[in-house]
Amino acid sequence: MKAIVKAKAEPGGLEFCDVPLPRPAPNEALIKMKTVAICGTDLHIYNWDAWSRQRVKVPRIIGHEFAGEIVEVGGNVKRFKVGDYVTGEGHLFCGVCQMCRTGQAHICESWVGLGYDCDGAFAEYLAMPEVNLWMNRPEVKPEVAAIQDPLGNAVHAVFAADCVAKRCVVFGCGPVGLLAVAVLKAIGAAQVIALDRANDYRLAMARRMGATHVLDDAQIDDVPAAIRQITGGKGADVVIEIAGTPPAVRDAVRSVHPGGDLVLMGLPNGRVEFDISEEIVFRAIHIHGVTGRRIYDTWYRMAGLLQSGRLHVEEIITHRFPFAQYEQGFQLMRGGHCGKVVLEL
Ligand SMILES: [Zn+2]
Ligand SMILES: [Zn+2]
Repeated sequence: MKAIVKAKAEPGGLEFCDVPLPRPAPNEALIKMKTVAICGTDLHIYNWDAWSRQRVKVPRIIGHEFAGEIVEVGGNVKRFKVGDYVTGEGHLFCGVCQMCRTGQAHICESWVGLGYDCDGAFAEYLAMPEVNLWMNRPEVKPEVAAIQDPLGNAVHAVFAADCVAKRCVVFGCGPVGLLAVAVLKAIGAAQVIALDRANDYRLAMARRMGATHVLDDAQIDDVPAAIRQITGGKGADVVIEIAGTPPAVRDAVRSVHPGGDLVLMGLPNGRVEFDISEEIVFRAIHIHGVTGRRIYDTWYRMAGLLQSGRLHVEEIITHRFPFAQYEQGFQLMRGGHCGKVVLEL
């Protein structure tokens, strides 16, 4: 089968290779891919940054966002069958550690990342454990089904705090931030303020996806003051930080009103300093560190939101390429003038 392989330990270094067809283990199903989506994680591996250099062994089939159809099942697979239209949770979890056994498999002590710790989904076929499979409703388009990994991140972040009828801010209008805007609109946030830095393309997308206000960080001296002005003087009820830069995190903390919620999902690659006493303790701010998707609470909620007809995410998918033209997709992602880029098989 054809697969997109990170073949060399260097920037770029992706090859379109012939690799052996995987055989499903007794607890696995073999999935024939229909649509895959390029994630920021794949771009990190493409760029061969510090994280991927220490995490990824080459050669590696990359990719973890996908939708496809089951074509074969192992002998111990119980609930899924040939013909099922599935997506998968990309964090492979052990099921027996303390975190897994207390409903927190998203922070499993020994989780394995599909497409970086093991071979991934940018291939014609993928064998995946049954416990990682998610059944899609037939009316969900494959390109939407394929982006449930980042959509799940957004759903997880939004539901980490009570955002219904609240004044909410999203820092960072990358795909997960834009999807968080759409989720906030769907659940009825009072205000959805989206912020990014010098990227008119993504701020315009944020508006289309439901932001009531958009702010360009590069045009504003004092972001928390601008947010206080929009939210009636005190600051936001909930701030969701997905920009992941130290200045954005500092502004995010100062944009929450006393007693409000700060949801941190962005990943700054440097240290961030606060005055903990003044900015957090005395202001009684609730901080939530959020990673991945709750397995499977987030998935059921996401499916419910899609079924409700209130959540509209198709706008986020801005570019589609045939599978073999993946390089064009990666170049677009590097430029940042796109939403989600999908590859069709
Ligand atoms: Zn992803
Ligand atoms: Zn575990």
